[in-house]
Amino acid sequence: MIKSIFDSYGTPILLGIFIILFILETKFELRKRTQSRLKRIIINFIVSIPAFALLRILLIPAMVWLAVKNQAWHFGLNYLFTSSEWIKACIAFLLLDYTNYIWHILLHKLPFMWRFHLVHHTDLDLDLTTAFRFHFGELIGSVFFRGAAVVLIGISPSMVLIYEIVFEAATQFHHSNTKLHFGFEKLLNKIIVTPRMHGIHHSTVKNETDSNYSTIFSFWDRLHKTIRLNVRQNQIVTGVPSYSDEKELTIGNLWKLPFTKIREWKVTERTGDKNINQLKE
Ligand SMILES: [Zn+2]
Repeated sequence: MIKSIFDSYGTPILLGIFIILFILETKFELRKRTQSRLKRIIINFIVSIPAFALLRILLIPAMVWLAVKNQAWHFGLNYLFTSSEWIKACIAFLLLDYTNYIWHILLHKLPFMWRFHLVHHTDLDLDLTTAFRFHFGELIGSVFFRGAAVVLIGISPSMVLIYEIVFEAATQFHHSNTKLHFGFEKLLNKIIVTPRMHGIHHSTVKNETDSNYSTIFSFWDRLHKTIRLNVRQNQIVTGVPSYSDEKELTIGNLWKLPFTKIREWKVTERTGDKNINQLKE
């Protein structure tokens, strides 16, 4: 099943999206780059190799295996009521996205998980390649959380894979440095996470990083009042304040980073527009 859905459809779709976004963010740049693009491409891709391999050989098989087993166990929300398969699929998709919103908050709030997620946030520019910059430790942690979510929701194996493809596509999209037409993005952001919204999550300003945790649908942040849209993109400094020395952020250091003493965040606050629900250009 993984081969027929994820490898046959997912991989070419995700590769296509990657190429399109790569061209778009080259032609229509949203935030000014501060680092060499080529250097970041190399660092982010090499750092991502172990996580990428684990995604394909551990996380996806584990989630599909649990979903298959669960068809016999009949455990989880979707087995508690009878309705059409379509409705169940929609509920599963939405709830899986909601659990990923919670997982992202835990990555920031649990000091042990922050060690790993920090690697993703130390990128000093934000673009398509940041979507791949994850430490393999974060991926191993997610197997337990996301596996439990699959069972608790009672999601079908094929839906696990469909969600995963959309999840990866959304991750590429909202990390990209693509300048969309502002009016269009404002509208789109009512439903899904867009580049301007996620750009604020990668800010060095603490209360901005502590917002916009959603992956696909943006309404989880609205629902829990963790949304913050009132920051102009040209005001954002990307990264983590105590890890801003480019020379330190080598591939080897990034792999080692979770196992070192984690530096405290130098807290800065931005005062300004009070309407946090209003997206800025
Ligand atoms: Zn984050």
